[in-house]
Amino acid sequence: MTESKPPAVKSIFNARLVNDPLGDPGLFIEFRYDKRALLIDLGDIHRLSAAKLLKVSDVFVSHTHMDHFIGFDRLLRLVFGQGKTIRLYGPVNFTTNVRGKLAGFTWNLVDRYEESVNLEVTEVLPDRLLKTTFRAIDRFEPSAHRELPFDGRTLLEEESFRVETAILEHRVPCLGFTVIEKAHSNVDKEKLEALHLQPGPWVSRLKDYAQGEPYPVNIAVTVCDDRGRRTEERDLKALARELVVTTPGQKIAYITDTVYNPDNSRRIVDLVQGADLFFCESPFLAEEAERARDRCHLTSEQAGQLARRSGVRRLHVFHFSSRHTHQTHRLIQEALSAYRSEK
Ligand SMILES: [Zn+2]
Ligand SMILES: [Zn+2]
Repeated sequence: MTESKPPAVKSIFNARLVNDPLGDPGLFIEFRYDKRALLIDLGDIHRLSAAKLLKVSDVFVSHTHMDHFIGFDRLLRLVFGQGKTIRLYGPVNFTTNVRGKLAGFTWNLVDRYEESVNLEVTEVLPDRLLKTTFRAIDRFEPSAHRELPFDGRTLLEEESFRVETAILEHRVPCLGFTVIEKAHSNVDKEKLEALHLQPGPWVSRLKDYAQGEPYPVNIAVTVCDDRGRRTEERDLKALARELVVTTPGQKIAYITDTVYNPDNSRRIVDLVQGADLFFCESPFLAEEAERARDRCHLTSEQAGQLARRSGVRRLHVFHFSSRHTHQTHRLIQEALSAYRSEK
């Protein structure tokens, strides 16, 4: 088993900002091997094609200021009638916000559509999650209210990844998010050939062993060389060490619309720690710390400091204030130099 080698297998995710850094914030995370995507923030999403938006299964909304939520209508317009269930997550009061959006339209004909759409809304409170379903077939009347326990961190857990959150301060609660891909193991095909071994069900047993599953000491493998094709017993541990490459999963972090103070910064660093990609807001210049504090946003320098303290591999700053349309370079430079600083 080889750990922390350069990834032999690509991450299952491809993440990119929806708009340029002066546009509305949002991150589109597409699955490379699946027709699926996650969307963080729901501002202006016109740059995402209908085909891309139809892949969205889960939407994570940091807070419902307009620039983070105005895209709700466009998404709903597109998914309506597709027979899908979309899961949406947001901070306190989110269910009321979604309900208010839905109440802005007339739904008298929806029962004519067999294939409609369901919205499963999760409101994130410090100690619990409030879930509510809105089904088009019910004219989006809320139903199936339930309350789930919440560890204060995990929003969604699937086989290959999980999504974590932290409640941050923006004069209203605002959610930060990380999407964490789990480690995956793959067999080095070239080495397999070099050892004259043939793939078979034993390969997945080998991968399971590499992921920590206990197995007997030996494993039956299929060998195919000059002497023909046969089954042989091999030492499982030695074979796994030679053939299995374990790729650590990618961690993607997204922080926007939040203030820089000791308590909030600690919560951000806790969540973001060790991320491979860190998307962090940077609306203001370093010299505008007071303005930033007043508006509950970060400066470029603060974004860089948070990235450094969190030990991230790459920092992307975004959500630049429109007053800096001609100074975007400076915002980036200030953030990067604080990130790389040794202080
Ligand atoms: Zn904003
Ligand atoms: Zn905001």
